[in-house]
Amino acid sequence: MTRIFSGIKPTGHLTLGNYLGAVRQWVEAEHQPDDALFCVVDLHALTVEHDPARVRRLSRQAATLLLAAGLSPDRCTLFVQSHVDEHTRLAYLLECTATDGELRRMVQYKEKAVQARGAGAGVRLSLLTYPVLMAADILAYGAGEVPVGEDQRQHVELTRDLAVRFNQRYGHTFTVPRAVHPAVAARVMDLQDPTSKMGKSFGDGPGVVFLLDEPEVVRRKVMRAVTDSGDGGVVYDRAGRPGVANLLDILAACTGGDPAALADGYAGYGALKRDVAEAVVEVLRPLRERHAELAADPAAVDRVLREGAARARALARPVVDRAYEAIGLLAP
Ligand code: ATP
Ligand code: MG
Repeated sequence: MTRIFSGIKPTGHLTLGNYLGAVRQWVEAEHQPDDALFCVVDLHALTVEHDPARVRRLSRQAATLLLAAGLSPDRCTLFVQSHVDEHTRLAYLLECTATDGELRRMVQYKEKAVQARGAGAGVRLSLLTYPVLMAADILAYGAGEVPVGEDQRQHVELTRDLAVRFNQRYGHTFTVPRAVHPAVAARVMDLQDPTSKMGKSFGDGPGVVFLLDEPEVVRRKVMRAVTDSGDGGVVYDRAGRPGVANLLDILAACTGGDPAALADGYAGYGALKRDVAEAVVEVLRPLRERHAELAADPAAVDRVLREGAARARALARPVVDRAYEAIGLLAP
């Protein structure tokens, strides 16, 4: 069975984009605990300005939400990245495999470096090297598939390149993974700026639907979504009509339809927005309810994470030890 690995950063509250693009695939793909690993990648949250107490709080909240979304410790391994040292051990070997040039080409590095400079902060070195740590996250487990949103495609490509290069130079060590994306909503756009990806780290933006938003808040955000000018009616055209296409994608992802076919059923934007709002509220309702139950017992969540880390460590250690030997380090 192909092993899968994926992660989420505790940089903000989880969004509808995180859920439709990534988390829902994880829930659907769960198999045996050793074959499906999901990780709160807290070290990645330190690559930008951060408040220590908030990262800690968001890490537990992300884990609680993943359980609420349907991940079960009986069918997957859920853990926190910083609890398993193998990730950083392997990252160094991969830094010795990657080049400065290929990291500087990463689109997300360029975007987030601009944001950091704009905020008057320096660009942390870890922001540049973060895709290498992400490659280590994946390669340490020999994962074959990485279910992620479309924005992570380039990072998974880099992971593949590093795995192939390492294998060629030092002998076969790593499985070469591939990214898998959902058929619709692989890139949910911001409701106020449908040319930008919906992202959890952009603060409390009116264009971002958070998984724990109250139904009234969800409705308000969707009803105020920016639609496209012109009177072409409701048509599915991602390039020409990004606002409407985004709403159709969300509706299709929530109801199981096809976005282009759904467009035919609407004469105007108002009815479309009302249906999108209700569909999102219904998808989020069980998640919010389950989250409230689980959040009442944080010790139980911590227990799941501790057991997950122990399992993850046992899987990663032999792979990382093999890489240490292959690259030329003397065994201790
Ligand atoms: P940040 O702004 O801090 O990068 P983020 O919302 O992009 O936050 P990540 O933790 O980077 O969240 O990504 C977690 C997963 O969610 C990844 O698989 C990513 O591809 C996916 N994802 C993030 N945003 C979207 C989106 N707008 N649409 C679809 N998938 C998304
Ligand atoms: Mg991101």
